[in-house]
Amino acid sequence: MLKTTDILDEKDKRLRQVSKAVSFPLNKKDIDMINDMLEHLVNSQIEEIASKYNLRPGMGLAAIQLGVNKRYFVIAHEQDDKTFNKYVIINPKIVSHSEELIYAGGGEGCLSVNREVEGIIPRFARITIEYQDIDGNTKKLRAREELAIAVQHEMDHLNGILFMDKIDKDNPFKDEDKMRMI
Ligand code: ZN
Repeated sequence: MLKTTDILDEKDKRLRQVSKAVSFPLNKKDIDMINDMLEHLVNSQIEEIASKYNLRPGMGLAAIQLGVNKRYFVIAHEQDDKTFNKYVIINPKIVSHSEELIYAGGGEGCLSVNREVEGIIPRFARITIEYQDIDGNTKKLRAREELAIAVQHEMDHLNGILFMDKIDKDNPFKDEDKMRMI
């Protein structure tokens, strides 16, 4: 199980590294870490478990947030029936994206950022990425809405970018009318 203290805080310079491409097969350490990351994300979104262990809810986590500078991240996306769709995304590349932009009305959260940050982070409403799965097979994922935001947020982590970097400092709600809030 991950400890909350394993997750790097925004002030940690390691979060600013550009992560390195992953080669296959993955070693056991990475596979164990991927499973721990997914477990943590699922637990953090289940209220009784989250309050018992004092976990902040999160749906995505990138390896670099645990100090491992490799290009992978995981997402646990809760569905209407309370099950979770789990994604392990390695060496992702954007294949295509919508013109339409959206933003998360409640702001974006990040397990490395322990404070509220106000403002708009423009994201593509729909994106298609190509990536490798845990066995090294090349796959495609079409993501829209909330999942699309999560994928773009996590891909930014692989390039050393945090979500606040994308908020206009002088006018955090700039271009609000040009995007759709979700
Ligand atoms: Zn994050």
